[in-house]
Amino acid sequence: MSAVPMIDAQRLSLMLNELRLPTIKHIWGDFAAQADKEGWPASRFLAALAEHELAERDRRRIERHLAEAHLPAGKTLDCFAFDAVPMISKAQVMALCAGDGWLEQGANLILFGPPGGGKTHLAAAIGLALVERGWRVLFTRTSDLVQHLQVARRELALESAMTKLDKYHLLVLDDFAYISRDQAETSVLFELISVRYERRSLLITANQPFGEWNRVFPDPAMTLAAVDRLVHHATIFEMNVESYRRRTAQARRTGAGRPATYTTPKVLETIRDNQNENDDLASDNQNRH
Ligand code: ADP
Ligand code: MG
Repeated sequence: MSAVPMIDAQRLSLMLNELRLPTIKHIWGDFAAQADKEGWPASRFLAALAEHELAERDRRRIERHLAEAHLPAGKTLDCFAFDAVPMISKAQVMALCAGDGWLEQGANLILFGPPGGGKTHLAAAIGLALVERGWRVLFTRTSDLVQHLQVARRELALESAMTKLDKYHLLVLDDFAYISRDQAETSVLFELISVRYERRSLLITANQPFGEWNRVFPDPAMTLAAVDRLVHHATIFEMNVESYRRRTAQARRTGAGRPATYTTPKVLETIRDNQNENDDLASDNQNRH
């Protein structure tokens, strides 16, 4: 009580505004009263204020990152049934959610599987966990991002649009194989993959295995070069399960599901082998077509 009248509280508020310390501005009165009452040393009082300002700053930053991430609502790890995708290790997913290691190296994560298998859910849940740990994430449908980059290209601002995406440690490209076959579109996608290669991570979900990506990139050399960069440092999850919705509906009716029928064609192994050899892309593609 005694310290407060000796300072100009209004002037202190202005100074704290100027210093951009809104939390301290908000709490210093109560803390000062408590410190006076309990006889805190001045250093303890100052440290308590600083700690609160920092904690609140972290909270606000994560809130901002969550808003900018555009994650689909309600898709969390807590409500993801790992037993529905027995080929995926929960421990491995949890390790990826820490972000260290792979995001620092700009490594990628690729989720394959038929529609309804939980790719979007898992991608969003991993994105959310990463944001909560302080990483920056942008979740987007691939076709929306391609459209955005195409507009930027027309306005001669493609480079700055790509640079703006650099602030995201992880870019989630949902439904990668759904984009239309247009040369201009796919080349912006190819440029994005090249620009982020070994620097910034991508999380890609796709219904179509690599063997079908020639429908995404009309030029087979471009497909191979894109896949080559994507898989060079990548974790690949193959979620070869039947639609979760259909299975849960079916289980309600009959109590059982059908076995998965989806497989990744041999081309994946072919691409993995080629990647080590670093063959001439053109001759390689001639051999394959
Ligand atoms: P995909 O992107 O592979 O087509 P989604 O992630 O959109 O599949 O999943 C379809 C629906 O089923 C969503 O509502 C999703 O939340 C739910 N779902 C899928 N897999 C699981 C799972 N393992 N646990 C809980 N919900 C799931
Ligand atoms: Mg999906």
